[in-house]
Parts: sequence; structure tokens; C-alpha cells
Amino acid sequence: IIVKSTREIELIRTACKVIAKVFSEMESYIKPGLSTQEIADKAEQIILDNGCTPTFKGYGGFPGAICVSVNDTLIHGIPSKKIILREGGIVSLDVGATYKGYCGDACRTYYVGTVKEEAKRLVETTKESFFEACKVIRPGATVGDISHAIQKYCEERGYPLPREYTGHGTGRHLHEDPSIPNVGIPHTGAILREGMTIAIEPMVAMGRPNTRVLSDEWTVKMRDGKLSAHYENTIVITQDGYEILTM
Ligand code: MG
Repeated sequence: IIVKSTREIELIRTACKVIAKVFSEMESYIKPGLSTQEIADKAEQIILDNGCTPTFKGYGGFPGAICVSVNDTLIHGIPSKKIILREGGIVSLDVGATYKGYCGDACRTYYVGTVKEEAKRLVETTKESFFEACKVIRPGATVGDISHAIQKYCEERGYPLPREYTGHGTGRHLHEDPSIPNVGIPHTGAILREGMTIAIEPMVAMGRPNTRVLSDEWTVKMRDGKLSAHYENTIVITQDGYEILTM
């Protein structure tokens, strides 16, 4: 388990602020008719203009600057000129930024135009489950406490959680120990310590939780073709709780 120094946390914080800037600029940018490539290009430009590099570009061979996942794509959508946002859909932007070798990682799911109540409920529940998990975070709490909080909140509202993908430590590398599953048992797993930087990321299904990976070897879709949502922030564990770095 990697605990960061104050200096390291400041570098991670700088990267995370740039991610937050991407999200705020996207609020007014996302609209029907845009391609996912156009969205990724804009995000990349904001990241570069603010002195960072897009962490995902080339990571494990990923071809895009960010992940853009539409509707039934859960995660890892590759930006494409051929994938066009349609009125009533939802789109998740998963963004990583690196500053002087240190990174942050976060995701938001946006509405494309006007969406149905059921889509809003999915997206809101996904976001709320992140904040529900935050309530248990302090030094001495465990990863299982976080996992359980997310699972309980989503499942009580009728939303299952795909189990193949998890949150993770982040900072010196995009993915560090510990893994932060979205399902789990309280008082189990790694113990949180002051100075740990972790990305917590509920990924939530409207239908069944089963996923498949497309032949591009990245795009993760829901097998039943129903909507899925994703919400993520990088946080730092502090002496008396936590601070969210990517808001
Ligand atoms: Mg992540």
C-alpha cells in the first residue's frame, strides 16, 4: 500500500484539478450530434493546455486520450468519429491526467439532451453511491467498508454492480494497490491510512450485471444492451477523513 508524501499529494492534486476543469467545460459542450472523437479531442486539448498529459493515451496500448462510453458501454469506450451522441442517451467520460509524473483519475456520466427518468435515476444513484461510500472513509477504515457501502446503496435501489472492474490506488501510477471493488464485506480488506490516494468508481447496470469485451479488446458493453453508468473521483485519505481531489 503506497502512502504519498505531502509533495507527492500536491502534484496529484494539480493533475486532479485539471480533470475537474475538463468535466466543468464538458457540461456545456456535450450535446446530440457530437462524435466521441470530438469529445476526446476537446478533453485532450484542455489537459495539454493546462500543463498535463492524458494518462490513458497509450496506457496498455489504449488508443484514445480519454475513455468515452455511450449508453450500454460500461467503460473503456475508444473515441471514434463513427460513434455519435444521440438525444436521450448518456455518455461517460473517464479522464486521467498526469502532472510531473503524478496522476489522477475520475469519471462523470452526462445526459445527452433530455433523458428519460429511468436514465436519470441510474446516473444519480451511481453518483450518490460514491458519496455514500465517502461517509465511511477515515484512517483505520477498510476497503471492504467502501465496497459494502457502494453495493448496499445500489442494490437496495435495484441496481446490480458488475464485478469484473474495480477502483484502485492511483498517483504514482494509474493503477496501484489496493483494488477497490464495488461489492464487498465491511471490516475486511486493506486498511486505509493517511496519505493514501485512491480512485473509487462505482460502475452500475440498469439491467443484468453481465459484461462482454468487444473485439477491439477494450470496449466493455453490457450483455443485455441496457444502460450503464459510471462515476469516479480520486481522493486522498486525511488525518480525520478524506478530501476529494477531482472536484
Ligand atoms: Mg479508475
